[in-house]
Amino acid sequence: MKRFLLFPTLFCLSAVLISGCASTEQTNSESDQTESTKSASSEQEQTKENAEEENVEQQEAEEKQAEKQEEQQEPQYKVSEVSSIVPIDDANEQVALLTFDDAPDKHALEIAESLKEADAPAIFFVNGHFLTTDEEKETLKKIHDMGFAIGNHTYSHANLNDLTEEEAKEEIIKVNEQVEEIIGEKPEFFRAPFGENTDYSRQLAEDEGMTVMNWTYGYDWESQYQDSDALADIMVNTELLGNGANLLMHDREWTAQAVPNIVTGLRDKGYELVDPETIERPS
Ligand SMILES: [Zn+2]
Repeated sequence: MKRFLLFPTLFCLSAVLISGCASTEQTNSESDQTESTKSASSEQEQTKENAEEENVEQQEAEEKQAEKQEEQQEPQYKVSEVSSIVPIDDANEQVALLTFDDAPDKHALEIAESLKEADAPAIFFVNGHFLTTDEEKETLKKIHDMGFAIGNHTYSHANLNDLTEEEAKEEIIKVNEQVEEIIGEKPEFFRAPFGENTDYSRQLAEDEGMTVMNWTYGYDWESQYQDSDALADIMVNTELLGNGANLLMHDREWTAQAVPNIVTGLRDKGYELVDPETIERPS
C-alpha cells in the first residue's frame, strides 16, 4: 500500500527535477522529452537528461516488478469464508476492501480516476460483454494501467446455477482470455454474478489462479441509495462496517459520485483501504 502511494509521487518528483511534471504517467515520456529538447542548453545536456530519464523509468519498472513478486510471495491477507479480508500474520486488521462490479460500463473510468486521485486501491470485477469494442478495451487497459486489480465477473452476468458446467466454463474462461489479451495478464479475482457460485465454478476459478470472493455489504442497487449522498452515508455509517469489510459497489452514476466521500469517510473512521495485491491467491 505504501508503494502504491509512493510510486506515482516518486515518479512525479523525478520528472519535475528533469523536465517538469506531466499530469499522468502514461503521457510522461514523449512529451517531456520534447520539452527538454527545447529547453536544454547543449546537446550534451539533452543526451544526459534523456539517459537519466530512461534510467529512472527503468528503475521504477524494476522496482514495480520486484514489489509485485514480493507481494505475491508473501500475501498479507486472505479472504474468509464470509468474504471478509483477514490478516494472515500481523497485518493491520482494521481494513476495508473496495470492489466495483459490472464494469467497465459507463462510469468505471471516472471511478478509477477518483480512486487514483485519492490513492485508494480497489478491484474492478469485469463482464466480458463490456469488453467487445475498442473503446471498452481501452477503458479496461486504462483502469489496469492506473494500478487497479481486475477481477472476472463472468461474460454475460448469468446465474451460474442455471448453467451446465460447459456453459459455466465458457462464461468464466472467455473473460480470462479477453482480459489477458487486453492487459497482458489474467484476472486475479473471481466474483460470481449474484454471489451464486457452484462447486464447479469455485473450483474452476481457483484452478485458473483466481481468489474467489463475494462481499460483506453493499447498497447501491437499492432504490433509496441510488443517490450519491445517501450512498456515501450508508457505506460509511452502516453497522455492517467492521474489520475486513468487503464493500460491493457497481459501475453506476451515483456510485461514481459517492466514491470520494466513501474513501474519506472510511479513512476518517480509521480504516486502511486494503491493496488487492496483498491478498492471497490460490497456490
Ligand atoms: Zn454483478
